[in-house]
Amino acid sequence: MTSSLLDGHGLFQRRYFHEREYLRNLALADQRPSALFIGCSDSRVVPEYLTSAGFGELFVLRNIANFVPKLDHADASVGAAIDYALGALGVPDIIVCGHYGCGGVKAALDDLEPFRAKHPSLHEWLEGVAPAARRGRAASADPDPDAPWRRGVEENVIQALENLITYDVVREKLESGAVHLHAWIYDLYQTRIRVLDVETGGFVDASEIQRNG
Ligand SMILES: [Zn+2]
Repeated sequence: MTSSLLDGHGLFQRRYFHEREYLRNLALADQRPSALFIGCSDSRVVPEYLTSAGFGELFVLRNIANFVPKLDHADASVGAAIDYALGALGVPDIIVCGHYGCGGVKAALDDLEPFRAKHPSLHEWLEGVAPAARRGRAASADPDPDAPWRRGVEENVIQALENLITYDVVREKLESGAVHLHAWIYDLYQTRIRVLDVETGGFVDASEIQRNG
């Protein structure tokens, strides 16, 4: 199984042979990514592929259901990435990118009790996702059976933006205009990114945001 991944690495080395000098220079200089990208661990949602970002462009944090806990959460890994990306690297943008078809959000919409004994870490993590996911379900009036799931995904990224503000470094940089927050959703089925329009609270196709400047 892993041999095919190592074969893939051989392909990478051949493909990027001509960029070897560029990659070495990247290694010698300090990294200067343009954004902190917080996404889901889902294997179908690959930030660099979706954005055509190259080496050194994105500082990426991925976890189940792209969850951003509040500052006082027991798990410090998200906070550590935020501290480093903003405090040390000075990234000007934070993107939280959820995705339709998210299994983590789907599980959080359902009864989490069966996870408690068998997968206690997963249970604890999804307990954090559950309030926003369930709020989405409650708000969904669409008769489509998948609509509550989609709304749950949307509420989860909106909640993530709100939780980001519990971190001092985010709040300070927001106040000084040094950082901007963005909520995106990758639509796995339409293969398009949708972006939160803060004016309306709805999600619109990324191409519309680009058109409107
Ligand atoms: Zn997911």
